[in-house]
Amino acid sequence: MRSIQSAAWALALAVLALAGCSREPSPDAATPVPTKETAVAADRDEHSYAEPTQVVVDDLALDLDLDFDSRTLAGTATYTLDWKDDNATELVLDTRALTIERVEGEADGQWSPLQFALDAPHLTLGSRLAIQVPQRNARVRVTYRTSPEASGLQWLTPEMTEGKRLPFMFSQSQQIHARSWVPLQDTPAVRYTYSATIRTRPDVMVLMSADNDPAAQRDGEYAFRMPQRIPSYLMAIAAGDLVFEPISARSGVWAEPAMVERAVAEFADTEKMIAATEALYGPYRWERYDLLVLPPSFPYGGMENPRLSFITPTVIVGDKSLVSLIAHELAHSWSGNLVTFASAKHGWLNEGVTSYVENRIVEALYGKEFSDMEFVIAREALKDNIGDMPEATQALAVKPGTELDADDALSAVAYDKGAWFLQFLEERYGRETFDAFLRGYFDHFAFQSVTTEQFLAYAKEHLFDPNPGKTTEAEIQEWVYAPGIPASAPQVMSPRLGLVDSARLAWLGSAQLPPQQLTAEWTTQEWIHFLEGLPPTLSQEQMAQLDTAYAFTGTPNGELAMRWYPLAVRSGYMLAFEPMTQFLQTVGRRKLILPIYAALVETPEGLALAREVFERARPGSHPITAASVQRIIDEAKPKPAAPAGAEAPEAPVDPADAQATGG
Ligand SMILES: [Zn+2]
Repeated sequence: MRSIQSAAWALALAVLALAGCSREPSPDAATPVPTKETAVAADRDEHSYAEPTQVVVDDLALDLDLDFDSRTLAGTATYTLDWKDDNATELVLDTRALTIERVEGEADGQWSPLQFALDAPHLTLGSRLAIQVPQRNARVRVTYRTSPEASGLQWLTPEMTEGKRLPFMFSQSQQIHARSWVPLQDTPAVRYTYSATIRTRPDVMVLMSADNDPAAQRDGEYAFRMPQRIPSYLMAIAAGDLVFEPISARSGVWAEPAMVERAVAEFADTEKMIAATEALYGPYRWERYDLLVLPPSFPYGGMENPRLSFITPTVIVGDKSLVSLIAHELAHSWSGNLVTFASAKHGWLNEGVTSYVENRIVEALYGKEFSDMEFVIAREALKDNIGDMPEATQALAVKPGTELDADDALSAVAYDKGAWFLQFLEERYGRETFDAFLRGYFDHFAFQSVTTEQFLAYAKEHLFDPNPGKTTEAEIQEWVYAPGIPASAPQVMSPRLGLVDSARLAWLGSAQLPPQQLTAEWTTQEWIHFLEGLPPTLSQEQMAQLDTAYAFTGTPNGELAMRWYPLAVRSGYMLAFEPMTQFLQTVGRRKLILPIYAALVETPEGLALAREVFERARPGSHPITAASVQRIIDEAKPKPAAPAGAEAPEAPVDPADAQATGG
């Protein structure tokens, strides 16, 4: 890794608008809460109205007009159906804020109208669309249009893009936003193939989570095919001034022209990452692996849309220090996209396994010292937060038949405790045995959706029983179903972060900054660790000394901004406020901005500033981000500022927002 020199910092400041890191739990205010009255069956996804035991969608064909002026997608969705139950005559689809114009069924090449009913919307689940199909047709077609406020789409004016020339739009379907742009069985328990024809203005390029053609010419009509079966949350579309630059024969970057060169340089190791993952876990099964760099309003770090990961521009910091995000999204091509959680309450099977695989990729490319730093940073955050979470949500999974809010299902527990569990298994069984097991798991369940219990049954047969005496049943049960962090958790040490601790302590005691030759070698991870270990507030002199030496205020690195600005707010360090408000108006990645809002709303003056900044930021905000910020402002309980020098209360952090992927 190249280190961050201070000269590089200054340059980066001048060149880059922003920056940040890694993956983050994706639930937010806009994700679902299960209907409390529903009894929970072990295999029932409480976030979908679909009845996959009756009938499943086998293939979806979209034919849509994408219109920037009306901010809508409009056209038809045609479903090829597989009727499972001999008595079933109803197809139930999930929708949210869709206008359903017509529903038809096909028989002998003729389309005729079908009766349908669209229920009043449920606050989080949307509207149940029930279609009567007395003839049990093999094909059903829905004519519909989206709302300009569709929760899964963001429409950006040209001014909100890098190049400011053409409008932009993109989707974010996870967790249950796909239903806001396509009527679907919106549950990861159902997998289907899809094709699409999308028409739009001829100067705009359209991409989907499908067979994008790197050589495609802009002509306003684009055809796509996704031949591998995917769950609905991996439906994705983007349109804008997008150009392609290759990284390797099967990998490349789509981005706005002004961004593409920087992105290719930052993500140059992508092919090496694919090769490293294949060496560990078997072939990449999705043909191409491309990256799409989105505008800074993208609410997450990344989204693992198959063949085309959506990526925040905030990880493009010039030194590859935040490319573990790419490792994370790539890892999902095995854990998540290939072997998929059956519902959100098995979230750790996607995010925990992915976080573990991510770390193995990072280790393979950048060495164990570096991957250990990332493990330690994630685990310290988990240890800090897990005690404040409700006990039920501290477990990796709930036992079958227990209810859990999807909001709670993808916290840092799913990501980091999940990864830790796999690391525990690796340590007990040895890397060789465990790697072979995990590769076998991906092969065995390829293109299927699985539950925690299926994982455990497979592990019993292929790992626990053939290798007796390495773990006990009680240990496994504790890891999966008990709150807190098990005593058997392997501890990872990072000597490099130890040096940072010493440097910080020395500075706090003596006001002597660490030697320049030491900090010149620090990566983003070391700076994160330095900032995280500081007291909740510093004096004006201390803040100014750090800022003069390291230029934290105005940093293009969002991972540092998200830690520095809350400290500045709590410390009343006014010099940082103007650049901070700029940052909040430019960046929409929730992980980076929510901690700053949370710090602001602690005092009446801060809350007033938060309201003012959000009012300015809102028109350019993604609906998912806007909902999360609004919730922080609505739930604020500001207290008058503590006298200078007194210990400030820590900003409350929603565990779901505390950590680093969108998906
Ligand atoms: Zn993820």
